Amino acid sequence: MPRIPEKMSERERILELKKEKNAVILAHNYQRPEIQDLADFVGDSLGLSIQASKVEAEVIVFCGVDFMAESAKILNPQKIVVHPEPKARCPMAAMCELEGLIEIKRKYPSAKVVGYVNTTAACKTEMDVCCTSSNAVKVVSSLHDKEIIFVPDENLGRYVQRFVKDKNIILWPGFCPTHNAIKPDQIKRLKKAHPDAVVIVHPECRPEVIDLADAVKSTEGMIKFVKASDKREFIIGTEKELIYRLKKENPEKIFYSIPGAICPTMKMITLSSVAKALENLAPRVELDEETIRKAKIPLERMMEIGRGD
Ligand code: SF4
Repeated sequence: MPRIPEKMSERERILELKKEKNAVILAHNYQRPEIQDLADFVGDSLGLSIQASKVEAEVIVFCGVDFMAESAKILNPQKIVVHPEPKARCPMAAMCELEGLIEIKRKYPSAKVVGYVNTTAACKTEMDVCCTSSNAVKVVSSLHDKEIIFVPDENLGRYVQRFVKDKNIILWPGFCPTHNAIKPDQIKRLKKAHPDAVVIVHPECRPEVIDLADAVKSTEGMIKFVKASDKREFIIGTEKELIYRLKKENPEKIFYSIPGAICPTMKMITLSSVAKALENLAPRVELDEETIRKAKIPLERMMEIGRGD
């Protein structure tokens, strides 16, 4: 009797469609494990921007939040960029609106605007240079200007100010709900339970949390730090999914996550939404030419400056 072929798994279907459509899948470090496993590249915002600028495939499927998919489009206007879940909008990026940014620029006309990459394409058109958590200190330090408007993450801006003493950094009252919810008591409790563990936190955390850390790193910085460390245990003060990659790359080491440190927006993308997006090559990221032209300038400046850790 002929064998009935088993139903193709969602993963197999995605891999087949990827070939058929000449697509590449880029995924952020906070994506679900099954998405990270089938991505061609997994990284942080800066790594993904750099990767997006080098893509040769005709289609980019971006598994991350809205501003990341927009950045991929800005850097590849001629390519089809698909964002499998357009509702996956970063709440921090939504805290900075174009009108408000124009208003604060009017108030401080001689200030330069440094914008975290976690902002909309529209806001990027009003920025001098972008930064990520891995190079924010390096980007701000590279400017000769004394007054800097830093948007939208207040915690990251305060962290930068610790190292850049000769500038007045005007902060925007934005924050990442996931990192801002990490409390000093949670770190203290974990440290008490695991006294030998090294505490690494993300600069989007509150200053009181940063004060308790042994190291402050972007997600990619954490990966490098853990790899280079001769320690065995680590408390990871960022979104819990980073631990999936950390464990995969360092099976002999032990990681403790912060209870509740989950970004629900990052989890909106599923295998089904990726399969559907590849099938239909939609929903696509569409931006007008003027927005692309203007938003590309601060993004490219950031990429020229490169990593800071
Ligand atoms: S972790 Fe924070 S900054 Fe990153 S996408 Fe989620 S809400 Fe936005």
